[in-house]
Amino acid sequence: METVRHSEHTLKTALISENPRLVSQYEKLDAGERRLLNEAFKPDHDLFGPITLHSQSDWIISHPEAPQDFEQFFSDPYRKAPSPDKRSIYIQCIGSLGNTRIISEEYIKWLKGYCEAFFYGLTVKLLEPVPVSATRCSFRVNDNTQNLQIHAGHILKFLKKKKPEDAFCIVGITMIDLYPRDSWNFVFGQASLTDGVGIFSFARYGSDFYSSRYEGRVSKLQKGSSSDYAVFDNYYTPQVTSVLLLRSCKTLTHEIGHIFGLRHCQWLACLMQGSNHLEEADRRPLNLCPICLRKLQCAIGFNIIERYKALVRWIEDESDSPGVSTKRGREGTVDLPKPVDAFKEWKEWIIKCLAVVQK
Ligand SMILES: [Zn+2]
Ligand SMILES: [Zn+2]
Repeated sequence: METVRHSEHTLKTALISENPRLVSQYEKLDAGERRLLNEAFKPDHDLFGPITLHSQSDWIISHPEAPQDFEQFFSDPYRKAPSPDKRSIYIQCIGSLGNTRIISEEYIKWLKGYCEAFFYGLTVKLLEPVPVSATRCSFRVNDNTQNLQIHAGHILKFLKKKKPEDAFCIVGITMIDLYPRDSWNFVFGQASLTDGVGIFSFARYGSDFYSSRYEGRVSKLQKGSSSDYAVFDNYYTPQVTSVLLLRSCKTLTHEIGHIFGLRHCQWLACLMQGSNHLEEADRRPLNLCPICLRKLQCAIGFNIIERYKALVRWIEDESDSPGVSTKRGREGTVDLPKPVDAFKEWKEWIIKCLAVVQK
């Protein structure tokens, strides 16, 4: 295992920059916030570890990219930031996320709550879920994995048309696998940063996708049936688990991070690290490193303490539907606590960060 280590000077410059205007902007931050952000370059820090490389197929090795420090982010002329009249993130669910309507509805509410805490200060709004047929997208059966796939570019076009006036961005989420073009095997997601539109699939994050037990396989589509969306009726969705929720939250926040203009992080272990495969995505933490956190704070303008507290509240609130009982009248009792087990370690980490900011 290799470790990507940067000098104290490199990390400090990436965070604060040497541009006098940005240095003075940094000095105006709250002292506690600076104490936390400075952990990026403190020699004995333990809150923000280095990036580790485990194989040649890891992202940094296989996709050389220019790194992006705070100053490059700040001065990027193409970067989009929320404005006073465009401060909403819209989530459009395509197809079902769970195998019952109630699970699907709860799942999307958990994701909404998570995004609201993560992008603290913005409003997250849910659009009424739509079936695949509403998007008029092309679809196919994957030759290798035999699961249904929908065309990512067609979904982006559909979302772009639906993007509301007050939207900073609109993101589609689905449990159906995606493909970008005929010659490609699959894609986890696709986005247009200039349009503020993205589509992301969690299909491959279920515990069984790569196993022989996977039940999402279908036989080849009949000729002429490639326009019959009935194949999506009651189509397989993976079982909702804490790990599936964690991976979905991670993907969604990483991808929306790109829409804010954050590029792949090469500084420290960070949510914004690129990932080439599921094992690498799992290794990537849920948190932003200080350099990426400063970028996001600059774009949104949140208070770091309030944002961390909101994330802790989301993890602690297992129902996540304040005032709404999960007991559903005559349908019987539906007890569907938010599966947050996989987030517990992260909660402890946030509490440590809060202690540093509030010292
Ligand atoms: Zn990425
Ligand atoms: Zn980072």
